[in-house]
Amino acid sequence: MKKDDNCIFCKIVEGKIPAAKIYDNDTVFAFLDIHPVNKGHTLVCPKAHSRNMLEDDDKDLAACIHTIKMVAKGVMKATGATGFNLISNINPSAGQAVFHTHFHIIPRFDDDGLRHWPQKKYTENEIDDLKELIKITLNNLV
Ligand code: AMP
Ligand code: ZN
Repeated sequence: MKKDDNCIFCKIVEGKIPAAKIYDNDTVFAFLDIHPVNKGHTLVCPKAHSRNMLEDDDKDLAACIHTIKMVAKGVMKATGATGFNLISNINPSAGQAVFHTHFHIIPRFDDDGLRHWPQKKYTENEIDDLKELIKITLNNLV
């Protein structure tokens, strides 16, 4: 299994530094975020090291999603959360600080004071132009 000796999450997975583990299996590890957005904020990561989900083995990613579904139910029930946000920050421009793939499960409560991101508007034709550009780009990738 791929690992990076300088990666803090690899060290957590290996048990070299402590973490509040709530679940693991052969491929996936889930633990509480040390600085929670809301209490019960959980991180789910593949055990194998990768910088972000674009680099992950598809099987590891599928295992993460499977675990997220199961763990999120437990987190919601245990915390009394009435919802959750599932987030993965990819690269520094998106706020990624730890460069080992991970997914945040952030428990949410009515009136918890957290706000959604502000949204932007497209100018005329911009949405169609961008749709075409992304479709063409995607077709060249697959
Ligand atoms: P990101 O910005 O998506 O890379 O998020 C990294 C997350 O890892 C942050 O929410 C941190 O609070 C969390 N974190 C960093 N170190 C630890 C640690 N030792 N144990 C638990 N969570 C951590
Ligand atoms: Zn790692």
